[in-house]
Formats: sequence, C-alpha cells, structure tokens
Amino acid sequence: MEVQTNRLDRGFYKYQQEFENAALRVLRSGWYIMGKELSQFEEQFADYVGAKYCVGLGNGLDALWLAFRILGIGKGDEVIVQGNTYIASVMGITINGATPVFVEPDEYFNIDPSQIEDKITDKTKAVLVVHLYGQASRMDRIVDICKRHNLRLVEDCAQSHGSAFKGKVTGTFGDIGCFSFYPSKNIGAFGDGGAIVTDSEEIAKEMKIYRNYGSEKRYYNKVVGTNSRLDEIQAAMLKVRLEHAAELNDEKKAIAAEYDKRLDNSLIVLPKTAEGADHIYHQYVIRCRERERLISYLKDKGISTIIHYPIPPHLAEAYEYLGHKKGDYPITEQYADEVLSIPMFNGMLKEEQDYVIDVINSFR
Ligand SMILES: *Cc1c(COP(=O)(O)O)cnc(C)c1O
Repeated sequence: MEVQTNRLDRGFYKYQQEFENAALRVLRSGWYIMGKELSQFEEQFADYVGAKYCVGLGNGLDALWLAFRILGIGKGDEVIVQGNTYIASVMGITINGATPVFVEPDEYFNIDPSQIEDKITDKTKAVLVVHLYGQASRMDRIVDICKRHNLRLVEDCAQSHGSAFKGKVTGTFGDIGCFSFYPSKNIGAFGDGGAIVTDSEEIAKEMKIYRNYGSEKRYYNKVVGTNSRLDEIQAAMLKVRLEHAAELNDEKKAIAAEYDKRLDNSLIVLPKTAEGADHIYHQYVIRCRERERLISYLKDKGISTIIHYPIPPHLAEAYEYLGHKKGDYPITEQYADEVLSIPMFNGMLKEEQDYVIDVINSFR
C-alpha cells in the first residue's frame, strides 16, 4: 500500500461541490480583489478565533513581518522566539532588522516558558510564540512574563487554527495573532493566503494600509507598504473550510488518538500534550534516535514521511551572520535530528492508518 504524508486532494473532494460553487460564484462576479468575499471571511474568521478584527493578507510570512513592522520593532531590538520553529517565524523578525533570540523548546515542542526570562535584556521588545505542530503553547505563563516585563506578544498561529489554551483560542493572547492559509495548514486555501487577528482597532487599520501599498485613500500613500492581499477566490474557498473547521480539526484529533493508542514501539517517542493545551495536529510528530533507518524502512513499505524541520534556524546558512554554532541549542538540535512527521491528513482512510501503525510497530 502507498500512504503519503499528506493528501490535499482528499481535503478538496470532501467538500467538492461547495468549493466549486464558491469558485464559480467569484469567477462570475467580475470582482477579484478586495471585495465582499474578503470582508465576509475577515468577519467570520475574527468570530471563529474570538478576536475583534481580522485582516486578510497574501501569506503567513507577510502577517509576521508586518506585525513587527506595525509594532515598531526593528534594528537594535530583540525578539524572543523558540529555536525549533519553521524559519518563516524568524524571517518575520529579521526582515525588520530586529534580532531573534532563541529559547529552547519544552517536551511539547513549544517554547519552554521557564527559560524565557533568562533571555530578556534591555533590548528585548517582544516574544514571538509559535504554536508548533498545532499544540497551543502554555500561554498563562507566557502572558504573565510579557506583562511583567512590558513586552509585546505576537503569536505565530500558522499551524494552530482554532487550537486553544484553557479555552482561549490561539491568536488572541497578545497584540497580534498571525495566520497562514497555505494549502497544507489546518485551514488551507488553494494557493497562498494569510491573515492577522487583533483586538486593536489601530493595529487592524494600520495593517489594512500596509497591505495595500501603504495607502488608505487611493493614490495617497502614507507609508511604504507592500502588496499583500487575500484575493476573492481564496477568501471564498476559506469560507467553505471555515464552516467545516470544527469537523476538520476533530477528524485529525481522532486520527491522532488512534496513533496514541495503538503505536507501540520502544524505538519511538510519541508526542505529548501539555495540561490545558489543545492540539489540532497540523502534524503528528514522533521522535526516533534511528530516524534515517526508520525513514528508509517506511519508504520501502510505501509510506512517506517528512522532517519538520531538519535544520534549525540558528544553523541555517541564511543566519550565519547571527554567529551561532552547532551545540548552542542542544535540545533544538536534538529535535532536528530526531523528529519525524508521519501520515496525517483529512480524509485519511482507516485501512491506510492501520497499515501505517502495523508497519511502524514492526520496525526493529
Ligand atoms: C507555514 C508557516 C509560516 C509561513 O506561512 P506562509 O503562508 O507559507 O508564508 C510561518 N510560520 C509557521 C510556523 C508556519 O508553519
């Protein structure tokens, strides 16, 4: 049997008629950028997470760098972020000229709250929390640290749509929540897409100016902005996804529960969930000391896997200028050497999951 790590076509066919109807509606409308599909989606997405405002953008990276830009964080400023994140989180900081300061992850793959305060200096302006793989970070402790040290709090929710900590949805804990709607995300478009959510009218207004060349009034440009708009077709597709968001996340949670219950191999460490945290399993990430051998064993049996992520940002060539070296962040580096994402997607068949479980359990 062949089982791929992800099957985006399954997610499409699940609601094929609804997607096709919405796409045709937009195509026939004659209005393709900044119209009512976008404003309706923004309203619905803000409601979904429990924020006052949502502003649609072109992608998740834009959401991140624009967030720091609008908060006035740039050259000479430091932003605390976990070491084991996807590199886009870090680029959101460095595009503005600010410096990322890495913190090791906890056993849940998220930023370790107990190590944040050691990294705070008089240059620290913000903490960027990444709810990695879909699990909400331990936000009670992080919000408390930010309040006590007067730091801005930005959340990278590219992998955590709808995931909550103690009932409060990720993206609503700090100043700005940043989302990506890249096709493979839990709420995904059929192309690129992104958004920010915020309770600040001022930030929402600024974001709308920045995404449109720095202009609120046509041909009057207030700041040097960018072109980062969520187009009408993607907004219409995302409205369909959003209507089924609870069901989509529940399906992934059920697949994860089955893995938790039935995966049984002493060479493998299963993911853990922190008390009070929700996990929506953007990825189901196991750890294995003999990862390369496991990958080729699975590949021989037709099962594909992905490593999220093999090179931590502090060791990326792009960040050589920060001056980090191997050994600086041992837990981050250990995770980079051991993590493996196994098949996990909406529309995964029971026989596919049974097969993956049997094959992993028989790895010796
Ligand atoms: C996907 C992702 C991003 C970037 O989103 P794009 O829409 O691809 O630009 C940022 N951070 C994390 C954690 C992501 O997973």
